[in-house]
Amino acid sequence: MPVHTASSAEEALEIFAIEDIDVVITDVQMGGMSGFDLLKRLKLIDQSVKVIVMTSYNSYESVLQALQLGAYDYLQKPLDNQPSVVAAVQRAFENSKLQQENLDLLVQLRASHDQLSAANRSLKEANKKLKRLAVTDGLTNLYNRRFFDQVLKREVGRRNRYKLALSVVMIDIDNFKAFNDTYGHAGGDTAIKTVAKVLIESARTTDIIARYGGEEFIVALPLTEPSRSITFAERVRKNIENRIIEISDTESSSLTLSIGIAGVDAKAPPISTPELINTADEALYLAKQQGKNQCQLFTIDTKDRAA
Ligand code: GH3
Ligand code: MG
Ligand code: MG
Repeated sequence: MPVHTASSAEEALEIFAIEDIDVVITDVQMGGMSGFDLLKRLKLIDQSVKVIVMTSYNSYESVLQALQLGAYDYLQKPLDNQPSVVAAVQRAFENSKLQQENLDLLVQLRASHDQLSAANRSLKEANKKLKRLAVTDGLTNLYNRRFFDQVLKREVGRRNRYKLALSVVMIDIDNFKAFNDTYGHAGGDTAIKTVAKVLIESARTTDIIARYGGEEFIVALPLTEPSRSITFAERVRKNIENRIIEISDTESSSLTLSIGIAGVDAKAPPISTPELINTADEALYLAKQQGKNQCQLFTIDTKDRAA
């Protein structure tokens, strides 16, 4: 290792400013700046520098002062025991090296920690995406049937416990086979997406909208009396009837919907989820039978036709 010598504290500071110095050995008494002042200055410039102070024999006070000022070690003069001098210098170097290695490790650790945090974040993000995908219909981005069934079960449970109103609206595109035959499968897909959009536009945020099958949709309307649910269904039906479906730059068409509603009012006795779905299905069947492009409502306890 390179060794630099200086004949004064001032010169030592000059060397220290330009060279990469790990260990400094200094006397206490020097012409000009003292060894203690040099120690203070060095520590101000580089907290990690190891300074060994040579104190005169029997001077307990100067040893104490040196250590208080941050000296790494001290050597007692006269320096007639060469091995102990060498050992002290070696210790200082070893310590300096270890400290540097510790610092490097800390930097590495910090970098690994940052990497791990970033990986964790993207994992969480991916998980969220997966969960969303599992409940979503790919074509329309509405909920899928599996998720709807789960949610409806929960809503029916709540409705039965607290005696609340609840309506389920089942929607089927009229003559969709013919639509597909005329405009092709891609044209049919566009129509399905349009119906999904209209449903979202017509519903409230608390309503649960799902694609129930190929060209079938279902909407659960919590806290909605049968009479109010028919207003919603009629709005959807009219919105679609009046909507021009852009199939391509040159082709456009229109569609109609048949809608069946099962409505439970707040006073109705407990119902089951299949009962609710089947009732909506029966109402839809009636709408088809009666000539399509219409809404039919069954209230659940009487199954009376109300509209
Ligand atoms: P109705 O008025 O009685 O409901 O007659 P419909 O022709 O609509 O009913 P049907 O059940 O006979 O036909 C539904 C058609 O919907 C048949 C199928 O090819 C089409 N279909 C189902 N899923 C999709 C889809 O994801 N994309 C497209 N383009 N067509 C679909
Ligand atoms: Mg159908
Ligand atoms: Mg249909």
